[in-house]
Amino acid sequence: MAAFVTRFAPSPTGWLHRGHAFSALTGWAAAREAGGRFLLRLEDIDTARCRPEFSDGIFEDLAWLGVTWETPVPRQSTRGAAYVAAIDALRSRGLLYRCFRTRKETMADIGRAPHGAAAPVTPGPLPAAEESERLARGDPWAWRLSLDASRQSLGGFEALCFVEEGEGPRGERGAIAARPGTAGDVVLARKDLGVSYHLAAVVDDAHQGVTHVIRGRDLLEAAHIQCLLQALLGLPTPIYRHHPLILRPDGKRFAKRDTAETLRELRAQGVPAAALRAELGFR
Ligand code: GLU
Repeated sequence: MAAFVTRFAPSPTGWLHRGHAFSALTGWAAAREAGGRFLLRLEDIDTARCRPEFSDGIFEDLAWLGVTWETPVPRQSTRGAAYVAAIDALRSRGLLYRCFRTRKETMADIGRAPHGAAAPVTPGPLPAAEESERLARGDPWAWRLSLDASRQSLGGFEALCFVEEGEGPRGERGAIAARPGTAGDVVLARKDLGVSYHLAAVVDDAHQGVTHVIRGRDLLEAAHIQCLLQALLGLPTPIYRHHPLILRPDGKRFAKRDTAETLRELRAQGVPAAALRAELGFR
């Protein structure tokens, strides 16, 4: 049987809610059905928002839910050297350029997974003289991935595609042509804030040998960018299985601020894990 390795990769920036429970159970059940492996990864690169108690909470909530995972659990905060190596590899091929937009402008691009489509940003490299001047002034900058340079460097840029075994928000499924350009030239690293979600996720999915990325369909757009990064870094593209989102009774998405609905709170109220599993469609 072909290997099947999937992962659940929460960011410890809040307590888990029903949506996370559904995602973790979906991946875990798929691994069991395929006789494969289920891995956990803590995406804790956004140091300003991650807290140790949320990491502990992830372990407690998942254990309560009946999910089992392999140990040790990798934490992205300890994987800096691997990310720097990937950035250096892209840089040495002229695929990145420095962008001096303000910290506030690029903050949103760093560390957080873009749930939903992001508006395209393509500032382009500065003229060499202006760049030198700004570097000399000590202005902060970010590395952006140049779509133009990627297109030139990669023979099969237009033919990039990935397999979607689940379904995207617009019914996307099957072999999907990658459109990495819809987000513009994405930020991959920032001088003072480390690397971006896209870079860390792609490097770690390959490092962990992930064959199937199972996650909410609000992250389908991310697969388009991640597919390009995998091709540029010579990494395999996993199969994607985006699943529907569990919505609140009012039709809105669960958010980490809905504290009354966290798994921790349900546990405290005495809700049995089996009842939540059944509500979410799992035995
Ligand atoms: N850490 C991401 C999140 O919290 C998950 C990203 C992924 O599964 O690729 O949404």
